[in-house]
Amino acid sequence: VKTIGVLTSGGDAPGMNAAIRAVVRTAISKGMKVKGIMRGYAGLLQEEIVDMSSTDVSNIIFRGGTILYTARCMEFVTPEGQQQGAEICRKHGIDGIVVIGGDGSFRGAGKLASLGVNTIGVPGTIDLDIACTDYTIGFDTAVNTAMEAIDKVRDTSTSHERCSIIEVMGRNAGYIALWCGIANGAEDILLPERYDGNEQALIDRIIENRKRGKKHNIIINAEGIGHSTSMARRIEAATGIETRATILGHMQRGGTPTCKDRVYASIMGARAAELLCEGKSNRLVAYKHGEFVDFDIQEALQMKKDISEEQFEIAKMLAR
Ligand code: ADP
Repeated sequence: VKTIGVLTSGGDAPGMNAAIRAVVRTAISKGMKVKGIMRGYAGLLQEEIVDMSSTDVSNIIFRGGTILYTARCMEFVTPEGQQQGAEICRKHGIDGIVVIGGDGSFRGAGKLASLGVNTIGVPGTIDLDIACTDYTIGFDTAVNTAMEAIDKVRDTSTSHERCSIIEVMGRNAGYIALWCGIANGAEDILLPERYDGNEQALIDRIIENRKRGKKHNIIINAEGIGHSTSMARRIEAATGIETRATILGHMQRGGTPTCKDRVYASIMGARAAELLCEGKSNRLVAYKHGEFVDFDIQEALQMKKDISEEQFEIAKMLAR
């Protein structure tokens, strides 16, 4: 009987549990055994490896976070660490691994594959910053959480006729900022991919908006740009309009996953276990042009993607 391992690595994302559940139950239904590897590659090197049965993944589909925990592990970036990881897999009879995580985690997965451990990656990150896929586990929940929080800030911002800068997550990618910008009808969206640092132009737009009678001025700022608090201070000084910064932070990484995140994570987790069952290795499960597909890990890591210019233009047009 083949045995597969499953781990979550890098930043956590709501829906990872649904993916773990799908990996475990699909593998078991195909006659394989499953081991859970705790704390990503760190737990692999520490041999924190547990047997997983179908009931071990009961009552988790609706929970945020990851029951396997997650960690970053510098040791695994070294060839010695990777070699040791592959040996530990062999020692525990693990001949295939599903890695749920982001680009960094997939680099590690590619290394394990080259050392003879069959590996399949599943994209799990709220940032949506994985080039080969139009969907990543957790993005939908994160944008919905951020959107609801921004609605609340907007209410009080309007009442007090303030300017609000709301900083959302996304690391160097602006997807959460762009989606919230459109969904929340923000007056301005600052994206790492597009922002030229021209704060005077931003200030001019705020003054112009106020003249046109806008009560509030919502600016969605992406984590990749940051500095929301100091920006708020400068805007207030330049415009005379009371300006507050709200940094949403880690609330965006937690919470009960949306329907979409549960369903897509389940499909991707099942697909990953099926690929291992078919003897495939070094593949990433992805969602592209409306279909679930898979790509070679190295080819996927070479791909580039950018935020949609069309969506950005529409967001700007609708904010006027
Ligand atoms: P994410 O997977 O969300 O992009 P990280 O970039 O932190 O998160 O990567 C998660 C883990 O993957 C790292 O802590 C490390 O153990 C492993 N990893 C990252 N880059 C590499 C690499 N180039 N080679 C091997 N392992 C890597």
